[in-house]
Amino acid sequence: MATNNIELIGIVISDRKQGESSKILSVFTDKLGKVSIYGKGLMNPKSGLLASGSMFSKTKFLLQKGQNFYYIKEAHLLDSFYDIRTDFNTIVAVSFMAELLDRSFLEGIKNYKVFLLFEKALELSKSKKNLKALRLAFALKFMAYIGYKPNLKDCLVCHSKKNLRYFSAANGGFLCEDDIKLLDTENLKNSLIINDDIIKILQDFMFLTFEDIIGKKYDINFLAKTETVILNYISENLDINKFYSLSLEG
Ligand SMILES: [Zn+2]
Repeated sequence: MATNNIELIGIVISDRKQGESSKILSVFTDKLGKVSIYGKGLMNPKSGLLASGSMFSKTKFLLQKGQNFYYIKEAHLLDSFYDIRTDFNTIVAVSFMAELLDRSFLEGIKNYKVFLLFEKALELSKSKKNLKALRLAFALKFMAYIGYKPNLKDCLVCHSKKNLRYFSAANGGFLCEDDIKLLDTENLKNSLIINDDIIKILQDFMFLTFEDIIGKKYDINFLAKTETVILNYISENLDINKFYSLSLEG
């Protein structure tokens, strides 16, 4: 009995064609975090693996560990998320989440909480409700789960909850009117002006469930500003400055 076989559940977060009919898949899994799977002949309809090798598909795999890749011994498709791939706005939302995972995770770093978060967000994206809020809430919760939880409760310096005026990406939280002067100019450059509406949205995204978030109405302009704050925070901490998935939005 080979010991390098493992059974797990994985969701495809990126794929790369290899030759005529093969693919290298980047798959986010419950047990191993991100893994690379070499899907030999995957795109051949006769392989029976076509659906499992498609973006966002959720599959129960039996994998065999090779030198550089995992190989598929068995695959049982759990959900192809077919509906997701037929709606443009949904594609943008889930592609953004997948790209964030793919670009920030190294192979073999396990994080079951992140897997569950992603699985849940994918599931809820089927409703096509509040997709921008969903993907931004995913991003903020994701940052917290991988160790970059910003303080969204009060001023980083004096802990006042009033007159919060800036979000400092470098320091991971709000600064009140009085304490902004304590920042050196380098940090100031990475601070964004915020208001109470943006603070409220950020707090919702961090502390409410996805279900509650997609059930709410958000002002489109404040949501756009909140996006800037979150992307700036990601850029500061993970060094991802541009998301290819968001350029789809045009
Ligand atoms: Zn303060």
